[in-house]
Amino acid sequence: MSGEFLCLGIEGTAEKLGVGIVSAEGEILANLVRQMKVAEGIHPSEAAQHHATHLPALVRAGLERAGVEMRELSLIAFSRGPGLGPCLRVAAVAARALALKHKLPLLGVNHCVAHIEIGRLTTGAEDPLTVYVSGGNTQVTAFAQGRYRVLGETIDIALGNCIDQFARELELGMPGGPVVERLARRGRYLPLPYVVKGMDLSYSGLLTAAVRLAERERVEDVCFSLQETAFAMLVEVAERALVQAEKEEVLIAGGVGVNARLQQMLAGMCSEHGVRLHVPPGEVLGDNGAMIAWLGVLSYLSGERQRLEDTHVRQRWRTDEVAVRWR
Ligand code: AMP
Ligand code: MG
Repeated sequence: MSGEFLCLGIEGTAEKLGVGIVSAEGEILANLVRQMKVAEGIHPSEAAQHHATHLPALVRAGLERAGVEMRELSLIAFSRGPGLGPCLRVAAVAARALALKHKLPLLGVNHCVAHIEIGRLTTGAEDPLTVYVSGGNTQVTAFAQGRYRVLGETIDIALGNCIDQFARELELGMPGGPVVERLARRGRYLPLPYVVKGMDLSYSGLLTAAVRLAERERVEDVCFSLQETAFAMLVEVAERALVQAEKEEVLIAGGVGVNARLQQMLAGMCSEHGVRLHVPPGEVLGDNGAMIAWLGVLSYLSGERQRLEDTHVRQRWRTDEVAVRWR
């Protein structure tokens, strides 16, 4: 093992805590995720407490899984933003402490860009249009002139958040995505508001309407209609972005990306355009530490350096603010 460049990545933007270890060649040696229970939705301070409690053991378990010692690492990376302030600060403080104690360089990296890069690494996608859909983010991005440009995005809540809040209102269980997907299999279509504004998406009116509709219609039908409407809006924006950006591949990123119906709808759109759809393995679709470690590797090897005192967290750090030096 010794001599190899290894990065330990800590993910902690929301309710999941992740630790990953990745080599400069892109080998994922460990990728452990601990998801806190979120029956009532995510309370930032409780999630931060969860991360602070479980981080030391998760780091130890990650090292053990990878079969490496702390002293064999070359770099520590952490999710600097965007995300929930209290959670980000726990990950940042832990990463700084580890870097100081073990005299390692430290890099705070962008969570959204990390989703894109781990997708490229694990699927072999080279220059895709990325459809990134998670609990906190909904963005359609493409690389152009040194940055991941945001071609379309939500103007209010994220798609995953829309489904989660719907499930919470109806007490279906959290996280809502898998439950709604299961119920939707037995549903039929009922009209719901479809809101695409230019290249942007709005999911908050859809959420309200779906909750109201569920007061008088079968829950399976509302789940099906919620998915069909929300996904069709996303696929419409992705399709226009694909044509506009002239990309030949589409990459799915984010936890909502595991949804079979969403994958099917995106696959249909891709085949009409003769482009390839890349779906990363489930372990790297949702939030995880390996994606942070891998972006740490890419950033560090392309010359990025941060002084410890400049590693403050950035709750609202946009994808297109990051200079992509490694491409
Ligand atoms: P992430 O923030 O990337 O870890 O993704 C978490 C989000 O993915 C949450 O909003 C979940 O409800 C959502 N999710 C997980 N599984 C599914 C699924 N099968 N269908 C739709 N959404 C899902
Ligand atoms: Mg995420």
